[in-house]
Order: sequence, then structure tokens, then C-alpha cells
Amino acid sequence: MLILDAHLDLSMNALEWNRDFTRPISEIREREQRMTDKPDRGRGTVCFPEMRRGGIGICVATQIARYVKHGNPLPGWHSPEQAWAQTQGQLAWYRAMEERGEMVQIRTRGELQKHIDVWNGAPVSDPAQTHASSKHAGSETGAPLPIGYILSLEGADSILSFQHLERSYEQGLRALGPAHYGPGLYAQGTDAVGKFPPRGRELLREMDRLGMILDVTHLTDEEFWEALDLYQGPLWASHSDCRALAPHQRQFNDEQIKALAQRGAVIGAALDAWMMVPNWIRQQTTPQAVGLKLEKLIEHIDHVCQVAGNANHSGIGSDLDGGFGREQTPMDLETIADLARVPDMLRARGYREEDVRAIAHGNFLNFLTKALPQ
Ligand SMILES: [Zn+2]
Repeated sequence: MLILDAHLDLSMNALEWNRDFTRPISEIREREQRMTDKPDRGRGTVCFPEMRRGGIGICVATQIARYVKHGNPLPGWHSPEQAWAQTQGQLAWYRAMEERGEMVQIRTRGELQKHIDVWNGAPVSDPAQTHASSKHAGSETGAPLPIGYILSLEGADSILSFQHLERSYEQGLRALGPAHYGPGLYAQGTDAVGKFPPRGRELLREMDRLGMILDVTHLTDEEFWEALDLYQGPLWASHSDCRALAPHQRQFNDEQIKALAQRGAVIGAALDAWMMVPNWIRQQTTPQAVGLKLEKLIEHIDHVCQVAGNANHSGIGSDLDGGFGREQTPMDLETIADLARVPDMLRARGYREEDVRAIAHGNFLNFLTKALPQ
């Protein structure tokens, strides 16, 4: 079954982790064996061959570059201009992947439809109704199918001015999360507190004008409610879990999930261990120690469906290449290809076939069909 992954930091891995995602996962891991600069060296779970093996034919892929003021201990660039340049370098990598036929950018409804047709091997009328039965992720000539991506920006620090936002839109940027780990220039974000600064509220107005998708992931609780108030356009949460299962401000409480469902949002469930279970300590807790398995993802998905009252607002936003690897993911997940097990796990929980399809790809495709420009 076609899987849509609503959050991957592919270009960050290419440029900052120096990972060539066109190569097999074994080779990527092998080349990192003696490297110690990142906590997940040698334990990555994402590359294009594994995405195709798991049927992940479409994703939301980020540009990401934080600006840090002097004294801010978070990793990041020392000026917003450097952050902008980094995101432009990331875009150059996506373009190079397009030229190789590894990826294809989706900017419009038409391009979305065309891509879904390619993955299904036959024209269909409504992407949301697609059965997406492509068992093989290769074209009829045997060449690998390109992975479709919708370009998103995680954290808005790199947006130097609203002219740069417009330029980004012209480059195909369709979704934007103003916040990341904060505080940021346009939003406070995870591990920070408070409301949007004035320029954050202005950013929302500009995004509204351009018709962009607002990603509410990483907003503080105050910003979350402010955003729902201020933003009239489409909004989603690309990679967010449930606070009821993993108490931390990074996750949504039930009231927030209800409000998102009312707005027609889709919430992508994430596979970052610290967001899935309580009291996870990075680089200390292990998946084995707490018995973390992929089934926990199904619990988060199920919680969203129970709170929303239906299966129309839940999806997958794995975040599997978000600066962590197998040390911080479910112990029974070898690579991103294991997302292919999610449909069967939902069926085992009693989910109807149409709801399984909705969660695997249909809800996000439906959303995009409405949110993308013609
Ligand atoms: Zn994130």
C-alpha cells in the first residue's frame, strides 16, 4: 500500500550528515562506522531504496536551518543569511535528485494527481480514493520510480524577508512550520514558552496571502491557539504525537487534537522515541529498556482517531531521519521500509480497509488535493 510520510529531513541528511540517500542503507551505515560527530552515526534508517521497498512513494520533505544568537546553546547558524544560504543549498540537492530521477517535486494538484497515477500504474480520478496497490516500486521498464515530495520549511529563521518567502513559494515551498526547538525568530517553539512575536504574526498573514499550509508542529501551546485563531488557511501537524501517551509540551493534548480535527487538519504520527513514551532521556534510555515497539505508533494513531471520533485526521509523519537513528526508534524497526507493516497493524486493531488507506495516505492526499494550487 502506498505510504505518505509527512515529515522527512532528507536534504539536512544529505548536506549536514553527508549521507547519499541514493545508496543502500547498509553502505550508508558502513561508511559512518568510525564517525562520532552525531549521535546516530551508523544507525540511520532512511534512504531512497528503503523508502521504495516500503512503498513510501510520497513525502513532505523539509528545508531546515536554525539561526542562533550568541550564547544560544542549540546547534545552528550564526546569522539568518547563513541559514537562508543553507536552505538554498538544500534546495539545490533536491533539484539534483530530481535531475537524477530519484525525486519529483509536487507543487500543484495536477502534479499530485500525476504522481499518484505513476505510483498506481494507471490513471485514477481521485487520489484520495486510490487503492495504491503498487507492490513494486518500479516502473514498467524496471527503473525505480521517483519519490514525490512536497517542499516544507521547518522553522522560519532562514526567511530573511517576506520577499524571500515569496521567492521560496516560487521555488515550490508549500508548507511552513514557523517553529522548531526555540526560541526562533518567528516563533518560540519547543522547549520555549510564550506567544508569537509580532513578526511571527506577520509571517502568518503573508503565508495566508500566498495560500501556504501552516504546520503547527513545534509551536508552544500559546502559539498553537493563537495560530488557530489568526490563520484562515489550511493547517496540519506534520509530525506530532499525543500528550496523553507521552506527557510533554511537544505533543498535543486532547483539546488540541479536537480543535485540529475541527479545522480539517491531519496529524502525522512520529517515530522519535522521546515523543512516543514518557520519561525518555536522549542517549541514555534505549528502546530495548522500555520495550518500545512499532505498535506504540499505532497507539498514537488510534488515540487521535478516538479523540477526533473518526479516522479522517490521522496519518504518518515519521521524522525517521530527524537527527536520530535506531538508538531512538522502536526496537522492531530496522529501516523506514517497516512503515509497510502499519496497514496490517491497523487491520489487526479492527480498522476498516477504507480507514487503513486513509491513515496510510488518503487523509494527507485529500488534504493536499484541497490545499495545493490548481
Ligand atoms: Zn521536527
